[in-house]
Amino acid sequence: MAKVFWVVCPKCEKRYYVNRGLLGKDVQLFCPFCKSYFMSSEAKEIIA
Ligand SMILES: [Zn+2]
Repeated sequence: MAKVFWVVCPKCEKRYYVNRGLLGKDVQLFCPFCKSYFMSSEAKEIIA
């Protein structure tokens, strides 16, 4: 099982991966592309 999951930034719509330990929690995620913070519940898409 992978230790990461993919998340799609709601602002720039780019896809990147974050540590699976954060999945399922309402945590703040950081997009490395547009340098913005957003809550995991705001992610455009989450591919576990
Ligand atoms: Zn972004």
